[in-house]
Amino acid sequence: MSCVTHEKRDAVYQCDKCGAPICRQCYDDFALNEGEDDETHLCSECYKEAVRSEIAEVRSLKGMVIREFVFIIIGLIVGLILGLDICFGFGIIMDEPTGMFIAIIYLPFIVGSLLTICKKVYYKHQEARYNGDSSPWITTLFNIIIYLLIAPITTIGRFIQRIIDMVRLNRIMQADSAFLVRVDEYIAQSLQPTMVEAAAAGGVGADLGQEISLDDILGDSGVQIADNGEVLRQVRTR
Ligand SMILES: [Zn+2]
Ligand SMILES: [Zn+2]
Repeated sequence: MSCVTHEKRDAVYQCDKCGAPICRQCYDDFALNEGEDDETHLCSECYKEAVRSEIAEVRSLKGMVIREFVFIIIGLIVGLILGLDICFGFGIIMDEPTGMFIAIIYLPFIVGSLLTICKKVYYKHQEARYNGDSSPWITTLFNIIIYLLIAPITTIGRFIQRIIDMVRLNRIMQADSAFLVRVDEYIAQSLQPTMVEAAAAGGVGADLGQEISLDDILGDSGVQIADNGEVLRQVRTR
């Protein structure tokens, strides 16, 4: 049986995902590291699909981060209006002025960080349960109080964190897109006859094919995709 990508080469293995027959070179080239000694060997199509699905995930995470920005900004504005109302009594919730200036300073940050606090508390709660905390709800209540007390730090910290996340996500997306182009070029090159094959056929061939592997061109790309996976997990569960 011949390789699904290279019809002139014999298949020595099967794609771990779709089961298509793949040649020795594809086996070496299109491998994804998924842990210590855990490698997945794919055909070229499934390999590209893995990169494409990472791009899709980055895109959806960027959407999530942007929605969070919007939520924080709306929260700051709503909190400011409520704070002004509590202080000066415009009649939204307070008819009489209370003179509590602290509400103007503090309330925007509390409302602005509501979503962030919910997320942080949720993930910390999951973590506490996972780690066998005997009273996760007390820990959670404690966390809620702490986060409310440090709401200004939580809001500003979150804003900066998410800007950094956006930069990282954009970088991964650009790298993946450029990577896909290079993988296509590499596959196109590998389909050219080698010098030996071309000489046998009486023509001029490219000095490529078997001699250069994808790793030579791109470095340890499979590892990189696995590393990105860890970054994406962090962004999702922050
Ligand atoms: Zn496949
Ligand atoms: Zn192949």
